[in-house]
Amino acid sequence: MSKKLTTRKEDYSRWYNELVVTADLAENSAVRGCMVIKPYGYAIWEKMQAELDRMFKATGHQNAYFPLFVPKSLFEAEEKNAEGFAKECAVVTHYRLKTDPDNPSKLIVDPEAKLEEELIVRPTSEAIIWNTYKGWVQSYRDLPILINQWANVVRWEMRTRLFLRTAEFLWQEGHTAHETKLEAIAEAEQMNNIYAEFVENFMAIPVIKGVKSENERFAGALETYCIEALMQDGKALQAGTSHFLGQNFAKAFDVKFTSKEGKQEYVWATSWGVSTRLIGALIMTHSDDQGLVLPPNLAPIQVVIVPIYKGEEQLEQISVVANEMAEKLREVGISVKFDNRDTYKPGWKFAQYELQGVPVRIAIGPKDLEKGSVELARRDTLSKEVVPQDMVVEKVKGLMIEIQENLFERAKNYRDSHITEVENFEEFKEVLETKGGFISAHWDGTSETELKIKDKTKATIRLIPIDGKMEDGKCILTGNPSSQRVLFAKAY
Ligand code: AMP
Repeated sequence: MSKKLTTRKEDYSRWYNELVVTADLAENSAVRGCMVIKPYGYAIWEKMQAELDRMFKATGHQNAYFPLFVPKSLFEAEEKNAEGFAKECAVVTHYRLKTDPDNPSKLIVDPEAKLEEELIVRPTSEAIIWNTYKGWVQSYRDLPILINQWANVVRWEMRTRLFLRTAEFLWQEGHTAHETKLEAIAEAEQMNNIYAEFVENFMAIPVIKGVKSENERFAGALETYCIEALMQDGKALQAGTSHFLGQNFAKAFDVKFTSKEGKQEYVWATSWGVSTRLIGALIMTHSDDQGLVLPPNLAPIQVVIVPIYKGEEQLEQISVVANEMAEKLREVGISVKFDNRDTYKPGWKFAQYELQGVPVRIAIGPKDLEKGSVELARRDTLSKEVVPQDMVVEKVKGLMIEIQENLFERAKNYRDSHITEVENFEEFKEVLETKGGFISAHWDGTSETELKIKDKTKATIRLIPIDGKMEDGKCILTGNPSSQRVLFAKAY
Protein backbone atom coordinates (compact mmCIF):
# COMPACT_ATOMS: atom_id res chain seq x y z
CA MET A 1 0.00 0.00 0.00
CA SER A 2 1.45 3.35 -0.92
CA LYS A 3 -1.01 6.20 -0.63
CA LYS A 4 -3.68 6.72 2.00
CA LEU A 5 -7.31 5.99 1.27
CA THR A 6 -9.71 8.83 0.71
CA THR A 7 -11.63 9.10 4.00
CA ARG A 8 -15.33 8.33 4.33
CA LYS A 9 -16.00 11.91 5.29
CA GLU A 10 -14.16 13.31 2.29
CA ASP A 11 -16.01 11.22 -0.26
CA TYR A 12 -17.83 8.08 0.79
CA SER A 13 -18.33 6.73 -2.68
CA ARG A 14 -14.70 7.21 -3.63
CA TRP A 15 -13.56 5.69 -0.33
CA TYR A 16 -15.61 2.60 -1.20
CA ASN A 17 -14.20 2.21 -4.70
CA GLU A 18 -10.62 2.76 -3.59
CA LEU A 19 -11.04 0.29 -0.76
CA VAL A 20 -12.42 -2.46 -2.99
CA VAL A 21 -9.49 -2.08 -5.36
CA THR A 22 -6.63 -1.50 -2.91
CA ALA A 23 -7.76 -4.25 -0.52
CA ASP A 24 -7.52 -6.51 -3.57
CA LEU A 25 -11.15 -7.64 -3.53
CA ALA A 26 -12.16 -6.83 -7.11
CA GLU A 27 -11.50 -4.56 -10.06
CA ASN A 28 -13.31 -3.27 -13.09
CA SER A 29 -12.88 -5.38 -16.19
CA ALA A 30 -12.68 -4.73 -19.91
CA VAL A 31 -16.41 -5.45 -20.06
CA ARG A 32 -18.61 -2.52 -19.15
CA GLY A 33 -20.30 -3.05 -15.80
CA CYS A 34 -18.67 -6.43 -15.18
CA MET A 35 -16.04 -6.96 -12.50
CA VAL A 36 -13.16 -9.28 -11.88
CA ILE A 37 -13.43 -10.76 -8.40
CA LYS A 38 -9.86 -11.25 -7.20
CA PRO A 39 -8.72 -14.16 -5.02
CA TYR A 40 -9.08 -12.31 -1.70
CA GLY A 41 -12.61 -11.16 -2.58
CA TYR A 42 -13.51 -14.57 -3.92
CA ALA A 43 -12.29 -16.23 -0.71
CA ILE A 44 -14.85 -14.16 1.19
CA TRP A 45 -17.58 -15.18 -1.28
CA GLU A 46 -16.59 -18.84 -0.84
CA LYS A 47 -16.98 -18.53 2.93
CA MET A 48 -20.40 -16.99 2.45
CA GLN A 49 -21.37 -19.68 -0.02
CA ALA A 50 -20.25 -22.48 2.30
CA GLU A 51 -22.36 -21.25 5.20
CA LEU A 52 -25.45 -20.45 3.11
CA ASP A 53 -25.17 -23.78 1.35
CA ARG A 54 -25.04 -25.53 4.72
CA MET A 55 -28.13 -23.63 5.89
CA PHE A 56 -30.06 -24.42 2.68
CA LYS A 57 -29.24 -28.11 2.93
CA ALA A 58 -30.13 -28.20 6.64
CA THR A 59 -33.61 -27.04 5.62
CA GLY A 60 -34.03 -29.75 2.99
CA HIS A 61 -32.87 -28.00 -0.20
CA GLN A 62 -30.68 -29.54 -2.89
CA ASN A 63 -28.47 -27.92 -5.51
CA ALA A 64 -29.02 -28.29 -9.25
CA TYR A 65 -28.02 -26.43 -12.38
CA PHE A 66 -30.08 -24.99 -15.25
CA PRO A 67 -28.97 -23.37 -18.54
CA LEU A 68 -27.57 -19.86 -18.85
CA PHE A 69 -29.85 -19.14 -21.83
CA VAL A 70 -33.60 -18.80 -21.85
CA PRO A 71 -35.40 -19.07 -25.21
CA LYS A 72 -37.39 -15.88 -25.75
CA SER A 73 -40.72 -17.70 -25.99
CA LEU A 74 -40.20 -19.15 -22.52
CA PHE A 75 -38.93 -15.88 -21.16
CA GLU A 76 -42.07 -14.04 -22.19
CA ALA A 77 -44.48 -16.69 -20.89
CA GLU A 78 -44.94 -15.06 -17.48
CA GLU A 79 -45.84 -11.58 -18.64
CA LYS A 80 -45.16 -9.55 -15.55
CA ASN A 81 -41.77 -11.12 -14.99
CA ALA A 82 -40.84 -10.64 -18.64
CA GLU A 83 -42.00 -7.04 -18.65
CA GLY A 84 -40.09 -6.29 -15.44
CA PHE A 85 -36.79 -7.63 -16.78
CA ALA A 86 -37.19 -6.71 -20.47
CA LYS A 87 -35.33 -3.41 -20.09
CA GLU A 88 -32.15 -5.06 -18.83
CA CYS A 89 -31.75 -8.20 -20.91
CA ALA A 90 -28.72 -9.30 -22.91
CA VAL A 91 -29.98 -11.10 -26.01
CA VAL A 92 -28.13 -13.64 -28.15
CA THR A 93 -29.14 -13.37 -31.78
CA HIS A 94 -26.35 -15.18 -33.67
CA TYR A 95 -24.20 -18.22 -33.09
CA ARG A 96 -21.23 -17.61 -35.37
CA LEU A 97 -18.66 -15.05 -36.48
CA LYS A 98 -16.83 -14.96 -39.78
CA THR A 99 -13.90 -13.15 -41.35
CA ASP A 100 -14.80 -9.72 -42.63
CA PRO A 101 -14.42 -9.89 -46.46
CA ASP A 102 -13.40 -6.18 -46.48
CA ASN A 103 -10.87 -6.55 -43.67
CA PRO A 104 -9.46 -10.06 -43.18
CA SER A 105 -7.96 -9.22 -39.78
CA LYS A 106 -11.44 -8.55 -38.37
CA LEU A 107 -14.36 -10.77 -37.50
CA ILE A 108 -17.99 -9.89 -38.12
CA VAL A 109 -21.26 -11.53 -37.09
CA ASP A 110 -22.20 -14.04 -39.76
CA PRO A 111 -25.63 -12.89 -41.00
CA GLU A 112 -26.35 -16.45 -42.09
CA ALA A 113 -25.92 -17.71 -38.54
CA LYS A 114 -28.98 -15.98 -37.15
CA LEU A 115 -30.78 -17.96 -34.46
CA GLU A 116 -34.33 -18.92 -35.26
CA GLU A 117 -35.28 -17.91 -31.79
CA GLU A 118 -33.34 -15.38 -29.74
CA LEU A 119 -31.88 -16.49 -26.45
CA ILE A 120 -32.01 -14.33 -23.35
CA VAL A 121 -29.03 -14.51 -21.01
CA ARG A 122 -30.80 -15.27 -17.73
CA PRO A 123 -31.47 -12.23 -15.55
CA THR A 124 -33.18 -14.73 -13.22
CA SER A 125 -34.19 -18.32 -13.92
CA GLU A 126 -37.88 -18.75 -13.10
CA ALA A 127 -38.84 -19.24 -16.76
CA ILE A 128 -36.36 -21.97 -17.66
CA ILE A 129 -36.85 -23.69 -14.31
CA TRP A 130 -40.65 -23.70 -14.36
CA ASN A 131 -40.60 -24.95 -17.91
CA THR A 132 -38.46 -27.83 -16.58
CA TYR A 133 -40.64 -28.43 -13.50
CA LYS A 134 -43.55 -29.06 -15.86
CA GLY A 135 -41.95 -32.39 -16.70
CA TRP A 136 -41.18 -33.21 -13.07
CA VAL A 137 -44.57 -32.74 -11.45
CA GLN A 138 -47.57 -34.96 -11.99
CA SER A 139 -48.93 -35.78 -8.58
CA TYR A 140 -48.81 -34.37 -5.05
CA ARG A 141 -46.22 -37.07 -4.39
CA ASP A 142 -43.76 -35.15 -6.58
CA LEU A 143 -43.99 -32.13 -4.28
CA PRO A 144 -42.41 -30.18 -2.76
CA ILE A 145 -39.46 -29.47 -5.04
CA LEU A 146 -36.81 -27.66 -3.01
CA ILE A 147 -33.99 -26.64 -5.33
CA ASN A 148 -31.22 -24.08 -5.20
CA GLN A 149 -28.84 -23.05 -7.96
CA TRP A 150 -25.47 -21.31 -7.58
CA ALA A 151 -25.00 -19.30 -10.75
CA ASN A 152 -24.21 -16.07 -12.53
CA VAL A 153 -26.93 -13.86 -13.97
CA VAL A 154 -26.88 -10.83 -16.24
CA ARG A 155 -28.93 -7.67 -15.79
CA TRP A 156 -27.91 -4.84 -18.11
CA GLU A 157 -27.60 -2.24 -15.37
CA MET A 158 -26.90 1.31 -16.53
CA ARG A 159 -25.18 2.59 -13.41
CA THR A 160 -22.88 0.00 -11.96
CA ARG A 161 -20.73 -0.17 -8.80
CA LEU A 162 -18.28 -2.92 -7.87
CA PHE A 163 -20.19 -5.64 -5.96
CA LEU A 164 -23.22 -3.45 -5.25
CA ARG A 165 -24.64 -3.38 -8.73
CA THR A 166 -22.91 -5.13 -11.60
CA ALA A 167 -24.20 -6.22 -14.99
CA GLU A 168 -23.13 -9.78 -14.34
CA PHE A 169 -23.26 -10.99 -10.77
CA LEU A 170 -22.93 -14.21 -8.83
CA TRP A 171 -25.77 -15.38 -6.68
CA GLN A 172 -27.82 -18.29 -5.54
CA GLU A 173 -31.42 -18.62 -6.57
CA GLY A 174 -33.80 -20.99 -4.81
CA HIS A 175 -36.84 -22.16 -6.76
CA THR A 176 -39.40 -24.21 -4.89
CA ALA A 177 -42.71 -25.80 -5.84
CA HIS A 178 -45.48 -26.63 -3.34
CA GLU A 179 -48.91 -28.20 -3.01
CA THR A 180 -50.51 -25.38 -1.08
CA LYS A 181 -50.45 -21.63 -0.83
CA LEU A 182 -49.72 -21.77 2.90
CA GLU A 183 -46.76 -24.06 2.40
CA ALA A 184 -45.29 -21.74 -0.23
CA ILE A 185 -45.75 -18.67 1.96
CA ALA A 186 -44.11 -20.51 4.86
CA GLU A 187 -41.16 -21.37 2.60
CA ALA A 188 -40.73 -17.78 1.42
CA GLU A 189 -40.80 -16.60 5.04
CA GLN A 190 -38.43 -19.32 6.16
CA MET A 191 -35.85 -18.37 3.55
CA ASN A 192 -36.09 -14.68 4.42
CA ASN A 193 -35.46 -15.70 8.04
CA ILE A 194 -32.47 -17.78 7.00
CA TYR A 195 -31.05 -14.79 5.14
CA ALA A 196 -31.56 -12.60 8.20
CA GLU A 197 -29.89 -15.17 10.44
CA PHE A 198 -26.95 -15.54 8.05
CA VAL A 199 -26.41 -11.84 7.50
CA GLU A 200 -26.67 -11.02 11.22
CA ASN A 201 -24.75 -13.93 12.74
CA PHE A 202 -22.21 -14.53 10.03
CA MET A 203 -21.69 -11.13 8.45
CA ALA A 204 -22.41 -9.16 11.66
CA ILE A 205 -24.77 -6.88 9.73
CA PRO A 206 -28.04 -6.04 11.49
CA VAL A 207 -31.07 -6.21 9.21
CA ILE A 208 -34.75 -5.36 9.33
CA LYS A 209 -37.20 -7.90 7.95
CA GLY A 210 -40.21 -6.86 6.01
CA VAL A 211 -42.16 -7.00 2.79
CA LYS A 212 -41.81 -4.74 -0.24
CA SER A 213 -44.42 -2.30 -1.45
CA GLU A 214 -46.00 -3.03 -4.83
CA ASN A 215 -43.55 -0.71 -6.61
CA GLU A 216 -40.51 -2.46 -5.27
CA ARG A 217 -41.88 -6.00 -5.52
CA PHE A 218 -40.14 -8.58 -7.74
CA ALA A 219 -41.76 -8.71 -11.19
CA GLY A 220 -44.18 -11.63 -11.15
CA ALA A 221 -44.35 -12.03 -7.35
CA LEU A 222 -47.43 -11.68 -5.16
CA GLU A 223 -45.28 -10.81 -2.16
CA THR A 224 -41.59 -10.01 -1.80
CA TYR A 225 -40.07 -10.57 1.64
CA CYS A 226 -36.77 -8.83 2.17
CA ILE A 227 -34.02 -7.94 4.57
CA GLU A 228 -32.71 -4.42 4.51
CA ALA A 229 -29.46 -3.09 5.99
CA LEU A 230 -28.16 0.41 6.62
CA MET A 231 -24.77 1.53 5.32
CA GLN A 232 -22.48 4.02 7.10
CA ASP A 233 -23.47 6.85 4.76
CA GLY A 234 -27.10 6.54 5.81
CA LYS A 235 -28.24 4.78 2.65
CA ALA A 236 -30.15 1.50 2.79
CA LEU A 237 -29.16 -1.64 0.94
CA GLN A 238 -31.41 -4.54 0.00
CA ALA A 239 -29.48 -7.49 1.34
CA GLY A 240 -31.73 -10.36 0.29
CA THR A 241 -35.14 -11.12 -1.15
CA SER A 242 -37.54 -14.05 -0.98
CA HIS A 243 -40.61 -14.11 -3.20
CA PHE A 244 -43.99 -15.74 -2.88
CA LEU A 245 -44.88 -16.22 -6.55
CA GLY A 246 -48.38 -17.62 -6.09
CA GLN A 247 -49.42 -19.73 -9.09
CA ASN A 248 -48.21 -17.22 -11.69
CA PHE A 249 -45.40 -19.37 -13.05
CA ALA A 250 -47.37 -22.61 -12.75
CA LYS A 251 -50.11 -21.05 -14.87
CA ALA A 252 -47.66 -19.60 -17.38
CA PHE A 253 -45.96 -22.98 -17.85
CA ASP A 254 -48.98 -25.15 -17.16
CA VAL A 255 -47.49 -26.95 -14.16
CA LYS A 256 -50.36 -28.90 -12.60
CA PHE A 257 -50.55 -31.80 -10.20
CA THR A 258 -53.18 -34.31 -9.13
CA SER A 259 -54.01 -33.52 -5.52
CA LYS A 260 -54.72 -36.07 -2.76
CA GLU A 261 -58.40 -35.59 -3.57
CA GLY A 262 -57.74 -36.43 -7.21
CA LYS A 263 -58.21 -32.87 -8.48
CA GLN A 264 -55.96 -31.09 -11.03
CA GLU A 265 -54.37 -28.06 -9.38
CA TYR A 266 -51.70 -25.52 -10.20
CA VAL A 267 -48.48 -25.68 -8.19
CA TRP A 268 -47.50 -22.85 -5.77
CA ALA A 269 -44.06 -21.27 -6.10
CA THR A 270 -41.32 -19.35 -4.34
CA SER A 271 -37.95 -18.01 -5.37
CA TRP A 272 -35.23 -16.41 -3.26
CA GLY A 273 -31.76 -15.02 -3.78
CA VAL A 274 -28.74 -13.27 -2.38
CA SER A 275 -25.85 -12.07 -4.47
CA THR A 276 -22.28 -10.78 -4.43
CA ARG A 277 -23.92 -7.48 -3.47
CA LEU A 278 -23.62 -8.79 0.08
CA ILE A 279 -19.85 -8.25 -0.14
CA GLY A 280 -20.59 -4.59 -0.83
CA ALA A 281 -22.82 -4.54 2.24
CA LEU A 282 -20.06 -6.11 4.30
CA ILE A 283 -17.55 -3.45 3.23
CA MET A 284 -19.91 -0.52 3.68
CA THR A 285 -21.11 -1.66 7.10
CA HIS A 286 -17.87 -2.34 8.96
CA SER A 287 -14.90 -0.79 7.21
CA ASP A 288 -13.11 2.40 8.26
CA ASP A 289 -10.63 4.93 6.90
CA GLN A 290 -7.75 2.47 7.37
CA GLY A 291 -9.47 -0.09 5.15
CA LEU A 292 -11.51 -3.23 5.35
CA VAL A 293 -12.78 -4.58 8.66
CA LEU A 294 -13.84 -8.21 8.45
CA PRO A 295 -15.90 -10.18 10.96
CA PRO A 296 -13.88 -13.26 12.00
CA ASN A 297 -16.56 -15.62 10.59
CA LEU A 298 -15.85 -14.35 7.09
CA ALA A 299 -12.17 -13.45 7.20
CA PRO A 300 -10.07 -15.59 4.84
CA ILE A 301 -7.15 -14.97 7.19
CA GLN A 302 -8.25 -14.60 10.82
CA VAL A 303 -4.84 -14.07 12.37
CA VAL A 304 -1.62 -12.82 10.83
CA ILE A 305 1.74 -13.19 12.57
CA VAL A 306 4.34 -10.58 11.63
CA PRO A 307 7.97 -11.04 12.75
CA ILE A 308 10.00 -7.98 13.68
CA TYR A 309 13.66 -8.75 13.30
CA LYS A 310 17.12 -7.74 12.25
CA GLY A 311 19.05 -10.41 10.39
CA GLU A 312 18.51 -14.06 9.59
CA GLU A 313 19.33 -15.38 13.02
CA GLN A 314 16.61 -13.36 14.75
CA LEU A 315 14.10 -14.33 12.08
CA GLU A 316 14.93 -17.99 12.66
CA GLN A 317 14.41 -17.67 16.41
CA ILE A 318 11.11 -15.84 15.93
CA SER A 319 10.02 -18.37 13.30
CA VAL A 320 10.28 -21.23 15.79
CA VAL A 321 7.88 -19.48 18.17
CA ALA A 322 5.62 -18.22 15.36
CA ASN A 323 5.29 -21.58 13.61
CA GLU A 324 4.47 -23.33 16.85
CA MET A 325 1.86 -20.68 17.68
CA ALA A 326 0.36 -20.89 14.19
CA GLU A 327 0.11 -24.65 14.51
CA LYS A 328 -1.69 -24.43 17.85
CA LEU A 329 -4.12 -21.85 16.48
CA ARG A 330 -4.84 -24.01 13.43
CA GLU A 331 -5.55 -26.95 15.74
CA VAL A 332 -8.47 -25.00 17.21
CA GLY A 333 -9.79 -24.12 13.75
CA ILE A 334 -8.37 -20.62 13.33
CA SER A 335 -6.87 -19.65 9.97
CA VAL A 336 -3.39 -18.17 10.38
CA LYS A 337 -0.81 -16.68 8.10
CA PHE A 338 2.78 -16.29 9.22
CA ASP A 339 4.15 -13.57 6.97
CA ASN A 340 7.90 -14.14 7.07
CA ARG A 341 8.60 -12.52 3.70
CA ASP A 342 11.77 -10.47 3.85
CA THR A 343 10.78 -8.47 0.78
CA TYR A 344 8.50 -6.22 2.87
CA LYS A 345 9.11 -4.27 6.09
CA PRO A 346 6.93 -4.87 9.19
CA GLY A 347 5.38 -1.39 8.89
CA TRP A 348 4.28 -2.13 5.34
CA LYS A 349 2.83 -5.47 6.44
CA PHE A 350 0.93 -3.85 9.33
CA ALA A 351 -0.67 -1.36 6.94
CA GLN A 352 -1.43 -4.05 4.39
CA TYR A 353 -3.21 -6.38 6.82
CA GLU A 354 -5.06 -3.45 8.29
CA LEU A 355 -6.17 -2.52 4.78
CA GLN A 356 -7.27 -6.11 4.17
CA GLY A 357 -9.21 -6.31 7.42
CA VAL A 358 -7.44 -9.23 9.10
CA PRO A 359 -9.18 -9.36 12.52
CA VAL A 360 -6.11 -10.08 14.70
CA ARG A 361 -2.44 -9.26 14.16
CA ILE A 362 0.29 -10.77 16.28
CA ALA A 363 3.72 -9.13 16.20
CA ILE A 364 6.75 -10.93 17.61
CA GLY A 365 10.06 -9.08 18.08
CA PRO A 366 13.35 -9.82 19.88
CA LYS A 367 12.04 -8.31 23.16
CA ASP A 368 9.06 -10.65 22.99
CA LEU A 369 11.43 -13.59 22.66
CA GLU A 370 13.16 -12.52 25.87
CA LYS A 371 9.92 -11.94 27.76
CA GLY A 372 7.89 -14.80 26.30
CA SER A 373 5.26 -12.36 25.06
CA VAL A 374 3.68 -11.08 21.84
CA GLU A 375 1.95 -7.89 20.81
CA LEU A 376 -1.61 -8.50 19.81
CA ALA A 377 -3.65 -5.96 17.82
CA ARG A 378 -7.38 -5.95 17.06
CA ARG A 379 -8.49 -4.63 13.70
CA ASP A 380 -11.98 -3.59 14.85
CA THR A 381 -10.85 -1.25 17.66
CA LEU A 382 -7.23 -0.76 16.48
CA SER A 383 -6.19 -1.44 20.10
CA LYS A 384 -3.04 -3.31 21.11
CA GLU A 385 -1.97 -5.32 24.13
CA VAL A 386 0.94 -7.45 25.25
CA VAL A 387 0.00 -11.08 25.86
CA PRO A 388 2.09 -13.98 27.25
CA GLN A 389 2.85 -16.50 24.50
CA ASP A 390 1.23 -19.37 26.37
CA MET A 391 -2.04 -17.41 26.58
CA VAL A 392 -2.28 -16.58 22.88
CA VAL A 393 -4.52 -19.45 21.80
CA GLU A 394 -7.10 -18.82 24.54
CA LYS A 395 -6.95 -15.09 23.97
CA VAL A 396 -7.42 -15.37 20.21
CA LYS A 397 -10.25 -17.87 20.57
CA GLY A 398 -12.05 -15.38 22.78
CA LEU A 399 -11.30 -12.50 20.45
CA MET A 400 -12.86 -14.28 17.47
CA ILE A 401 -16.18 -14.22 19.32
CA GLU A 402 -15.68 -10.80 20.85
CA ILE A 403 -14.80 -9.08 17.56
CA GLN A 404 -17.70 -10.73 15.78
CA GLU A 405 -20.08 -9.48 18.50
CA ASN A 406 -18.53 -6.06 18.71
CA LEU A 407 -18.92 -5.48 14.98
CA PHE A 408 -22.56 -6.47 15.12
CA GLU A 409 -23.25 -4.26 18.15
CA ARG A 410 -21.43 -1.31 16.62
CA ALA A 411 -23.40 -1.61 13.38
CA LYS A 412 -26.64 -2.12 15.28
CA ASN A 413 -26.09 0.99 17.42
CA TYR A 414 -25.47 3.00 14.27
CA ARG A 415 -28.52 1.53 12.57
CA ASP A 416 -30.81 2.01 15.58
CA SER A 417 -29.73 5.62 16.00
CA HIS A 418 -30.60 6.18 12.33
CA ILE A 419 -34.24 5.20 12.40
CA THR A 420 -36.21 8.40 12.78
CA GLU A 421 -39.96 8.77 13.14
CA VAL A 422 -41.45 11.75 11.34
CA GLU A 423 -45.01 13.08 11.24
CA ASN A 424 -45.08 15.26 8.12
CA PHE A 425 -43.41 15.78 4.77
CA GLU A 426 -41.32 18.79 5.91
CA GLU A 427 -39.75 16.73 8.69
CA PHE A 428 -39.31 13.87 6.27
CA LYS A 429 -37.29 15.97 3.82
CA GLU A 430 -35.23 17.52 6.56
CA VAL A 431 -34.24 14.22 8.16
CA LEU A 432 -33.48 12.76 4.76
CA GLU A 433 -31.13 15.61 3.90
CA THR A 434 -29.44 16.14 7.26
CA LYS A 435 -29.25 12.69 8.79
CA GLY A 436 -30.30 10.05 6.29
CA GLY A 437 -31.00 6.53 7.48
CA PHE A 438 -34.39 4.89 7.72
CA ILE A 439 -37.34 7.20 8.13
CA SER A 440 -40.36 5.69 9.79
CA ALA A 441 -43.47 7.37 8.45
CA HIS A 442 -47.13 6.86 7.69
CA TRP A 443 -48.06 6.22 4.07
CA ASP A 444 -51.48 5.83 2.51
CA GLY A 445 -50.65 2.50 0.86
CA THR A 446 -50.80 3.66 -2.76
CA SER A 447 -48.10 3.28 -5.41
CA GLU A 448 -48.95 6.76 -6.65
CA THR A 449 -47.97 8.36 -3.35
CA GLU A 450 -44.79 6.30 -3.10
CA LEU A 451 -43.78 7.38 -6.60
CA LYS A 452 -44.49 11.04 -5.85
CA ILE A 453 -42.31 10.83 -2.74
CA LYS A 454 -39.58 9.13 -4.77
CA ASP A 455 -39.80 11.84 -7.42
CA LYS A 456 -39.48 14.63 -4.91
CA THR A 457 -36.81 13.11 -2.66
CA LYS A 458 -35.27 9.97 -4.29
CA ALA A 459 -36.32 8.02 -1.18
CA THR A 460 -38.33 4.83 -1.61
CA ILE A 461 -40.15 2.52 0.74
CA ARG A 462 -37.50 0.03 1.71
CA LEU A 463 -39.93 -2.18 3.51
CA ILE A 464 -43.11 -2.57 5.44
CA PRO A 465 -41.71 -4.04 8.68
CA ILE A 466 -42.94 -7.54 9.49
CA ASP A 467 -43.03 -7.00 13.23
CA GLY A 468 -44.01 -3.34 13.04
CA LYS A 469 -46.87 -2.42 15.37
CA MET A 470 -50.19 -1.25 13.98
CA GLU A 471 -50.75 2.43 14.62
CA ASP A 472 -53.32 4.82 13.17
CA GLY A 473 -51.86 7.89 11.51
CA LYS A 474 -51.95 10.13 8.47
CA CYS A 475 -49.90 9.75 5.29
CA ILE A 476 -47.05 12.28 5.31
CA LEU A 477 -47.82 13.34 1.73
CA THR A 478 -51.57 13.06 1.23
CA GLY A 479 -52.88 13.13 4.79
CA ASN A 480 -54.97 10.06 4.01
CA PRO A 481 -55.41 7.49 6.76
CA SER A 482 -52.69 4.89 7.38
CA SER A 483 -52.63 1.97 9.80
CA GLN A 484 -48.89 1.26 9.97
CA ARG A 485 -45.59 3.05 9.64
CA VAL A 486 -43.25 1.99 6.82
CA LEU A 487 -39.51 2.57 6.45
CA PHE A 488 -38.32 4.95 3.77
CA ALA A 489 -34.71 5.57 2.76
CA LYS A 490 -32.46 6.46 -0.10
CA ALA A 491 -31.02 3.18 -1.25
CA TYR A 492 -28.20 1.60 -3.21
P1 AMP B 1 -34.09 -10.13 -7.17
O1 AMP B 1 -34.07 -11.36 -8.03
O2 AMP B 1 -34.28 -8.88 -7.95
O3 AMP B 1 -35.02 -10.25 -6.01
O4 AMP B 1 -32.61 -10.00 -6.55
C1 AMP B 1 -32.03 -11.05 -5.82
C2 AMP B 1 -30.83 -10.55 -5.07
O5 AMP B 1 -29.84 -10.06 -5.97
C3 AMP B 1 -31.18 -9.41 -4.14
O6 AMP B 1 -30.54 -9.65 -2.92
C4 AMP B 1 -30.65 -8.19 -4.84
O7 AMP B 1 -30.27 -7.21 -3.91
C5 AMP B 1 -29.47 -8.73 -5.63
N1 AMP B 1 -29.24 -7.98 -6.87
C6 AMP B 1 -30.16 -7.48 -7.74
N2 AMP B 1 -29.58 -6.84 -8.77
C7 AMP B 1 -28.24 -6.90 -8.56
C8 AMP B 1 -27.08 -6.41 -9.26
N3 AMP B 1 -27.19 -5.73 -10.41
N4 AMP B 1 -25.85 -6.68 -8.74
C9 AMP B 1 -25.73 -7.37 -7.61
N5 AMP B 1 -26.78 -7.85 -6.89
C10 AMP B 1 -28.03 -7.62 -7.34
